Amino acid sequence: MIQLQLEGKTAVVTGATRGIGFEVARSLAKCGAKVACIGTNEEKLSKSVDQINSEGGSAKAYICDVSNAEKVKETAKLILTDFGKVDILVNNAGITRDMLMRRITDEQWNDVIGVNLNGTFYITRAFVESMRKSKWGRIVNISSISGLIGNPGQANYSASKAGVIGFTRTISKELANRNITVNAIAPGFIDTDMTAALSDVLIQGIKDRIPVGRIGKPEDIANAVLFFVSEEASFITGQIMAVDGGMIN
Ligand code: NAD
Repeated sequence: MIQLQLEGKTAVVTGATRGIGFEVARSLAKCGAKVACIGTNEEKLSKSVDQINSEGGSAKAYICDVSNAEKVKETAKLILTDFGKVDILVNNAGITRDMLMRRITDEQWNDVIGVNLNGTFYITRAFVESMRKSKWGRIVNISSISGLIGNPGQANYSASKAGVIGFTRTISKELANRNITVNAIAPGFIDTDMTAALSDVLIQGIKDRIPVGRIGKPEDIANAVLFFVSEEASFITGQIMAVDGGMIN
């Protein structure tokens, strides 16, 4: 793991219950940041936060559906009261509702856009004022290679993740003069619950297309997040970094 000195910094990670979000929250905490972990499943989130704290970190759980604008406002208020400020934001919460485009229902479309794109906007809007006041901030949005190159069966997901890329590039320009950097990571195929449902044959097919010859781990994404939030990355903003083992080169 990349080692940073994040003592005195407060981070918010959405979708921190499991998978990539959990590993990101855990890594930030290992570097000394206080971490507000947002998720929807109270029991699972509480277990994840307990694990981070038992490893010496400082994390607190907040139950919030990021697609609900009102709930996001309430939760942000709570977090800002508890921590006083937010320096680092990782918009990681995401869902899939895969289906060929001609069969996607309104609900499947709206659910995915609601969490992946609207959620990223609601959460960012809620915390950006705190970063503007401090004149320092780091926002990292978790997009996907599907948002860069498209993927059959994921029109809703690809559109939401491409939306996150446009959002990232635009707000990086709006916030640069306040020392706030905004970047996105586009993971390739990462071994989490989200991808666990795929068949072994499909997974082998994907693995064959990854030049480094292995499936990604949540730690691969967490390390990229740590790089973007580091002081050393202060001249990098508006960038989209694929972390995919070379898959879309
Ligand atoms: P996951 O399903 O294991 O975890 C998703 C997390 O988001 C969970 O903690 C879940 O509770 C949370 N979440 C879902 N809906 C939410 C909501 N409405 N409000 C708040 N939290 C919510 O998935 P993962 O693989 O860890 O994916 C994390 C991110 O990485 C997602 O944005 C995903 O699209 C992206 N991504 C994953 C892969 C991959 O291969 N796993 C590839 C590209 C991009």
